[in-house]
Amino acid sequence: MATIAVLGAGYAGLRTVKRLIHDKVDAHIVLINKNPYHYESTQLHEIVAGSKEPSDITFDIRSAVSDKVEVIIDSVTSIDREHRRVMLAASKPVEYDYLVNALGFESESFGIKGVTENTLSFSDVDSAVAAHEHIERTLARYGTSHDENDLRIIVCGAGFTGVELLGELITMIPEWTSRYSLPQDGITLYCVEGGKKLLPMLPEHLSAWAVDYLTEHGVQLHTGTVITEVRPGVVVSADQEFHANTIIWTTGVRGSRVIGDSGYSQKRNRVVVQGDLSVKDHPEEFLIGDVSAVPDPSSGRMYPTTAQIAIAQADTAAANIAALLRGRATTPFAFTSVGTVCSLGPHAGVASIDMVGHWHLKGRKVGIVKKLVNDRSVLELSHVREMLASN
Ligand SMILES: Cc1cc2nc3c(=O)[nH]c(=O)nc-3n(C[C@H](O)[C@H](O)[C@H](O)COP(=O)(O)OP(=O)(O)OC[C@H]3O[C@@H](n4cnc5c(N)ncnc54)[C@H](O)[C@@H]3O)c2cc1C
Repeated sequence: MATIAVLGAGYAGLRTVKRLIHDKVDAHIVLINKNPYHYESTQLHEIVAGSKEPSDITFDIRSAVSDKVEVIIDSVTSIDREHRRVMLAASKPVEYDYLVNALGFESESFGIKGVTENTLSFSDVDSAVAAHEHIERTLARYGTSHDENDLRIIVCGAGFTGVELLGELITMIPEWTSRYSLPQDGITLYCVEGGKKLLPMLPEHLSAWAVDYLTEHGVQLHTGTVITEVRPGVVVSADQEFHANTIIWTTGVRGSRVIGDSGYSQKRNRVVVQGDLSVKDHPEEFLIGDVSAVPDPSSGRMYPTTAQIAIAQADTAAANIAALLRGRATTPFAFTSVGTVCSLGPHAGVASIDMVGHWHLKGRKVGIVKKLVNDRSVLELSHVREMLASN
């Protein structure tokens, strides 16, 4: 019997396993993940702010997949692609006939001096919890330090993740002010962004609304301010300096380092995949989610990596492996985005949704949309919920 190894139990990996079971593939499925739980990466910023607990955004993988699936909890260190073996940190290698690599994202420093050493970033539950604990510790310390920098938080980057984090931090300020007996309006949030615009993926009027919302809530926005270095407690942009004892880095992500360590032809640990999501010269390997780069045929550029596309890719990869096992041809991946929902805390946000028409939403309505689906992305997580319900 053929073995299918699925690496990573994020959106892409879990969805793949679900589809393979649904398609009744005649194969042994092995799911490998470094933690016994799945976490909803799209909500990690809420852990950083402290508006959610890890238990709110995680669930046990074994309880979510069929007993037919072998689950191995271990870290993938590399893939021996020539001998079709997955190398693990603590267990013996896993041999495969088909591979689905869905190891996801890591924070990207873009090689800027001092970023790794002097900023907090978050790409999983542990790093999000560490960032949250740093914020709490630093605010609590103000009572004895009286250092204004303990009350300053700089978010580097005003893309989707940075803006959502700022929205969430805003809602926590009253609670922190009261918990640590801080001066009113003492906590200051800064955002330093190299680009001229916030949320460039959204229409002008929606990104402008987000700018107004953030500034009205006291965020000091510095767009067009390219960060050149980060020193302990200092973000440097040419001749400007921003001082704070909490600096959070959200300027972008790259794929898992396992990609770089496994001999793929890659850029920022992402591999440009074939039309059917397999890897050139390796029809048995499928790369999906944030480790893959998929060209958008309409623009020629790569699609942004999102949970939405990761889930859609999982369906195609699973169907193509099922086809190969049955001696059939694979089918190309096709994708239509259902849009973007960017929350600004639980009760506000901006959204551009392409579903049953085009919808541009802002304000509380977006909070309601988010609440209805219990997340910020309208379709993809309902797929995950379907997945859990049907197992
Ligand atoms: C704050 C934030 C908000 C976001 N909001 C949205 C949104 O609203 N809508 C949207 O579509 N997208 C959003 N995204 C992007 C989205 O989260 C990612 O595109 C998505 O998580 C990619 O899914 P994935 O399955 O490829 O990877 P991941 O979700 O990163 O899952 C990878 C899995 O692999 C495991 N893993 C990693 N390395 C190893 C290893 N070496 N060995 C074993 N296991 C390993 C991890 O533990 C994890 O379970 C957001 C991202 C962030 C950070």
